Amino acid sequence: MGQHGVASASRWKQALYVAVIYAVIALLFTFAAMYFGPQASQVGSTRAEDTIPGHVLELAGFGLLLGLCCMVVYGRKGLPFVFLTPVLTVLLDLDHLPAYLGYAQTIRPAHSFVFLVAALAVTAITIKALDIDLVVVSAFMGHMAVDTGIFAPLSPLSFQYFQLDPYRPEFAVGAVLCTLAAGAVLRTRVARASSRGGNEIA
Ligand SMILES: [Zn+2]
Repeated sequence: MGQHGVASASRWKQALYVAVIYAVIALLFTFAAMYFGPQASQVGSTRAEDTIPGHVLELAGFGLLLGLCCMVVYGRKGLPFVFLTPVLTVLLDLDHLPAYLGYAQTIRPAHSFVFLVAALAVTAITIKALDIDLVVVSAFMGHMAVDTGIFAPLSPLSFQYFQLDPYRPEFAVGAVLCTLAAGAVLRTRVARASSRGGNEIA
């Protein structure tokens, strides 16, 4: 896509685009893992149904907090990120969908660094905005900071499972740093644009 595509759209449109792309890639990873994952790894399940709303609220709450951190640095125009960050934070759990529907699947196929790299590659190539990339990383890390249990960090290339819990503090710190950096990048871009007399970020 060129300058007339999503790269030149408003931050609101870009936020919507990123949410859709993120969800689609999460589902692609989910199906790839069902296809490539060895039978022995297909032991994914959902948490007890009555604990799902609480967990989603926890994820959305931390995502919202991250979005607000970004706005603290950048100001009111960071508002699209106050919505985007919690949406992305929650969307990662789309990878539980097959188990929720009763199918065998691997554990957390999109809770993977390979997924993060894939999502980043798509946003970086199509939008070319560092602040959006940083929000994607922040939301991903924010999700990992809230989750507990095991995950396969290289899914769908490897289905070796690791405990997530020891790394939760690092993920939380990374998530906060990335959202603050996103706000700082936005500030710099706007300051530069206005010193040129332009107004490239609406
Ligand atoms: Zn999760």
